[in-house]
Amino acid sequence: MNDLWSECIRGLEPYTPGEQPAIPHLIKLNTNENPYPPSPVALAAIRQAANEDLRLYPDPEGRELKQVIADMHGLSPEHVFVGNGSDEILAHTFLALLKHRRPVLFPDISYSFYPVYCGLYGIECSAVPLDADLQVHIEDYLRPNGGVVLPNPNAPTGSVVGRGEMKRLLEGTDGSVVVVDEAYVDFGGETVIPLVADFPNLLVIQTLSKSRSLAGLRIGFAVGHPSLIDALNLVKSCFNSYPLDRLALKGAVAALRDQDYFDRTRKQVMASREWLAHELCSLGFYVLPSQANFLFARHELRDAATLQELLRERNILVRHFAKPRINQFLRISVGTDAQCQSLVDALREILATTYFADAVPNNAES
Ligand SMILES: *Cc1c(COP(=O)(O)O)cnc(C)c1O
Repeated sequence: MNDLWSECIRGLEPYTPGEQPAIPHLIKLNTNENPYPPSPVALAAIRQAANEDLRLYPDPEGRELKQVIADMHGLSPEHVFVGNGSDEILAHTFLALLKHRRPVLFPDISYSFYPVYCGLYGIECSAVPLDADLQVHIEDYLRPNGGVVLPNPNAPTGSVVGRGEMKRLLEGTDGSVVVVDEAYVDFGGETVIPLVADFPNLLVIQTLSKSRSLAGLRIGFAVGHPSLIDALNLVKSCFNSYPLDRLALKGAVAALRDQDYFDRTRKQVMASREWLAHELCSLGFYVLPSQANFLFARHELRDAATLQELLRERNILVRHFAKPRINQFLRISVGTDAQCQSLVDALREILATTYFADAVPNNAES
């Protein structure tokens, strides 16, 4: 049957997104969506854009959106690329900027889409191990490479590398592109966009999916030297002239302009994260410090996959990765305070009442 498939896709391993089941009253803490709705101003703009103009193609360049992003960062629109979610921008980036003779470097524990793009485009890659505390060390990337991709904060750990360290990486890297995936930067990280003016090999990618509550609208953007942006535009124009539709363009512009709503909701998420981290610690979890909208936590005694299953029976979804080094961790998206409270209540009940066949000390690396 697969003999009708193109040869080049037969061995591909796709990315597996967190599940999106249609179960009512689910507490969904598995895909790092924002628990708060999008800005009401953005929703109004989307409704207003749902008019007869939808018969027309959208602006292929997304000029208004690029201008808003450029203004936010004191740059020109030539420094900005917009795409259908940052995943699409990452895909274009791997093809446009990271396919070289030397391998592209990224952390071994990181966003699992990166190796998928390497598979799709036949790009050499090398996974650089995080240290025993699951932290990135910049020195490990200061070696010949075909590019470096660092999510900052990292996913699924939530750990950050400061701007000074990032600068050290950029100073030690020329002749290849450094991509910083800032999907979670608005929850306590430090953006490196101010370094774009000094480093022509830096590309910073952000998304409106997490901190702007617009995962369903599919909007991402990249900021970098115009020659990097040109490369992305070239690939984009060989792939899809109109990746952002009219509703997405209008909604994105309005969401980015609503700074008050953005600040209120992201600060609420950060406050809930600190509360949840504290509660999880008192339930016997080891919780990595996080500057993202999720926590990465391991119970000292209980098996992570079992905990995930027992939470699921209580209509609470969290993410578990059956991968070496992190298979005893759960990645828990920060919900509303009420959702976090429900999670803590459920965990307390599970830990107090459930018989665990595997109730053995759980601090060995596996
Ligand atoms: C969520 C996420 C993305 C993708 O975001 P979209 O803009 O929704 O495609 C990219 N990188 C990381 C690290 C993410 O967690």
